[in-house]
Order: sequence, then structure tokens, then C-alpha cells
Amino acid sequence: MPELPEVETVRRGLTLAMEGVVITQADVNRPDLRWPFPVDMAARLTGKRVERLRRRSKYILMDLDSGETLLVHLGMSGRMLVSGDPLGQFVHRHPAPEKHDHVVFHMANNARITFNDPRRFGAMDLMETASADAHKLLAVLGPEPLGNDFHESHLIAAFKNKNSPVKSVLLDQRIVSGLGNIYVCEALFRAKIHPTRKAGKISGARVAGLVPIIREVLAEAIEAGGSSLRDFRQADGELGYFQHSFDAYGREGDPCKRSGCTGQIRRIVQSGRSSFYCTQCQR
Ligand SMILES: [Zn+2]
Repeated sequence: MPELPEVETVRRGLTLAMEGVVITQADVNRPDLRWPFPVDMAARLTGKRVERLRRRSKYILMDLDSGETLLVHLGMSGRMLVSGDPLGQFVHRHPAPEKHDHVVFHMANNARITFNDPRRFGAMDLMETASADAHKLLAVLGPEPLGNDFHESHLIAAFKNKNSPVKSVLLDQRIVSGLGNIYVCEALFRAKIHPTRKAGKISGARVAGLVPIIREVLAEAIEAGGSSLRDFRQADGELGYFQHSFDAYGREGDPCKRSGCTGQIRRIVQSGRSSFYCTQCQR
């Protein structure tokens, strides 16, 4: 499932192919994904210029010159493929249509962007740009982890008196938006905090220390995604999935990477999701 760094990488890749460019034709090949598509979606996209591509949490927001914004969520398995850009950023031939190509954007610069999603947990919606923040999916979101509203006193206040594990508090999108399972595991490893520790029992200093660590973990992953964008001229034109090494996530049974620590990475399940942590240095 794509997390914030993957979505940011998709946004950056789409920006290269779409920003400032008119959508000459939009193909909408089915009535819905997770939810029904908005009424007349193909007509509302066709002939519109993409002014700007933004990201809020794990949503990509495409501002159009019609005054509407297209919201895109990749869901569990959504992929964006870019092909045929004459500017040389993307030199891939247009692929043959595939079964799960649900939405295709044909751009005036000859780029083609294909949204393929076998499991159809993805979503698209159209809204007025001026009131985009009030969209039901966006209005409930807490601060962006890389934005100015996410800071030490915000997190300390959010942790205060919380009886739930630190892991679930960090996954709560109202407290910080866009953080998912992988990067919470990584941040807790770096902060040496055990994932089951009750949030309210962690000292203010340690909670404050999580803020720069969360930013650092995400920034490093976004940087890895940026490298993948530079490489993908040679790859298949698919945006957003890249090789990135983790310290804890997916390393069950492996020795801890922290220098001087002789612990081992263990996996437990919390609220149905895997947590990976070091048995020795995370307290
Ligand atoms: Zn360790």
C-alpha cells in the first residue's frame, strides 16, 4: 500500500508530465472505484489545463483551470503509469490497454497517464478548488507531518493522558495525517520507543523528539523516491514504488542495526497490523 513518500513521488512524477498541460481527452472506463466516480467526470476533465498538482496526506490534488480540483487516492493497489512524453522525461511507448486501466488521461504534450487499480480501493472525486479543504476526506485530517502545524507542543498535547499505544496514536490521521504503518515502525525504532508503550506514559522530551525523527524518516524516503524518478526513464514508467531500505520494518529475526545493540527485530500484531521493533533498545 502506498504511503506518504510513495504518493509524493507519484505527485512529482505526474507534475513533470501534466503540470501546465491540457488534458485533451479523459477516458473513464467504469462507473466507480471504491466509490462512484463524480457525475460527467470525463467531460469535466477533457479540455481542462492542469494548473498545479498538490498533495494533502495521501491524496493527490490536481487543480484544473475550470476551477475544479480532481482528488486522486491510490488506495491499496493503484498505480500511475506515464508513457510517451515527447519532452524526453518519459520515453516509454504507450502500453497496450490492460484489464484494470480504469482512467486514462491523454495530454496535449502526447503524454498518457494511466491509472490502473486491480483491487479498486482507489478513489477519484471532483470538487471546487476554492472549497477543497472542506471535502469530507480532507476536512478530518490533522496536520501534515512535514508542515509547520506539526510541532512538539502539538504532539505533546495529543499524547497527554492517552491510554492507547504510541503506535495507534501516531497512526491516528486526526493527530498527524499521512503517516502509515511502515514509517511509524521506522520512526519508533529511531526514537527507541517500544510500539506498545502507552502514549500518555512517555515523557514530554521523548514525545518532542519524535517530531524531527518523523520528518527525517519521511524526508529520507521521499529522497529515495526522487532517485527512483531519475531512474525510471530506464524503467517501465510506473510511478511511486521504489526500493528503500528499512531499519526495522520487514526485518523480523534480523539483528538490530543500531551500533552497539545486540537485540533482534521482533514482529508483533497490533490492531491487525504488523509492528517491527528491537527487543533490546526500544523501551
Ligand atoms: Zn536494538
